[in-house]
Amino acid sequence: MIYCTRCLYHNKHPLNITFDERGVCSGCLIHEEKDNLDWSVRFKRLKKIVYAYKKKNNNYDCIVPVTGGQDSFFIVHTVKKRLGLNPLLVSYNSHYNTLGGLRNLSLIRTIFDCDYIQKVISPEIVKKINLTTLESFGSMYWHVIAGQTVFPVQVAIDLNIPLIIWGVHQGCDQVGMFSHMDEVEMTRKFRKEHDLMTFEAHNLLNINPELKEHEVSEYNYPEDKELARVGVRGIYLSNFIRWDSKGQHEKMIKKYNYETYKQIRTADSYNNMDCNFYNGIHDYLKILKHGYSKITDHVTREIRLKRLSREVGIKIVEKYQNLKSDDFELFFKFNRINQKYFRKIEEKFRNKKFWHKEKNGWSLKYKPKKTIKSDLLKTVKLRSSHNFNFLINNKDNKNELFLLHRAWRK
Ligand SMILES: [Zn+2]
Repeated sequence: MIYCTRCLYHNKHPLNITFDERGVCSGCLIHEEKDNLDWSVRFKRLKKIVYAYKKKNNNYDCIVPVTGGQDSFFIVHTVKKRLGLNPLLVSYNSHYNTLGGLRNLSLIRTIFDCDYIQKVISPEIVKKINLTTLESFGSMYWHVIAGQTVFPVQVAIDLNIPLIIWGVHQGCDQVGMFSHMDEVEMTRKFRKEHDLMTFEAHNLLNINPELKEHEVSEYNYPEDKELARVGVRGIYLSNFIRWDSKGQHEKMIKKYNYETYKQIRTADSYNNMDCNFYNGIHDYLKILKHGYSKITDHVTREIRLKRLSREVGIKIVEKYQNLKSDDFELFFKFNRINQKYFRKIEEKFRNKKFWHKEKNGWSLKYKPKKTIKSDLLKTVKLRSSHNFNFLINNKDNKNELFLLHRAWRK
């Protein structure tokens, strides 16, 4: 196992990663562009691209996909206040909502005064899909990604709004799959291969014969000829703005009162606070399958932005990655499964490349070395402070599901 000499990613990263002769990963190398590019020039370029789509007749200029968490506030703020566009906001209801996330979603529509539409798939269909994806590739999040990445495209076609504006491109930001200068755009290929773990909606029908065509058809990506008819394109703001999720969220907290909420398995209280399970059971499955969890993503991001040293980052990862989140029971109830069922899933998807069994249970085989013996260390190491503080302004984030279960019991 090879770990990057600058960040904490290993060479089995699911988005694929490469290393240079000093052992620095492609994600870190592309990240250097954040400090080298002239971002005012990049932003002018963004303006030029989007202004071609500005409508003169009060129609929508673009679509902005939103959730109650992540970078939604920053994206809508940029699109509406800085670019002066009139966006239509769209979201996919994951059914995993926290109340804080729902409040954020309500707030974003109000403060930015935007029209908004939401896609809601029946919860019973979602549960059926969940059991299929859990059993076949260990994911309870497939339907969320599939829904979030397809619904904006369907709306673009239905309402004839060609431009979709996304926030960050994960392939570029995490593993340096592309340069910012490539200005990579949304594609069916990236969605299938990376977002959907190679499983399109119709593939689920072969896996689970009990699933019916009409139950998964809403997750189908539109045909190429439909995309071409409207001229749909999806651009990423992270190619034109120096992306700093933590800094951006803190501006949004100050400016608009974006709600944040304490998480158990990561210190980042900003991203995915709208989801009951993302930083919980979903993150637990991630470490089983890939040998690292969200805290490694968050620490790596902060190391690259020079707010954290690698040494301190390693300690922070060790502190968080084995903590047990408190969402398992809720997830079991929602999907009508039990601990025994989930044990089988755990056994099936625990990747033995990363895990070995000891007397007291399973533990990870590898971890990044604290000190790196390298003649080239000076060119690898980044200057950094030790700031890993995240603001928490919402102490009560009791989830929507929790309230529903209370109601069902009555
Ligand atoms: Zn790296």
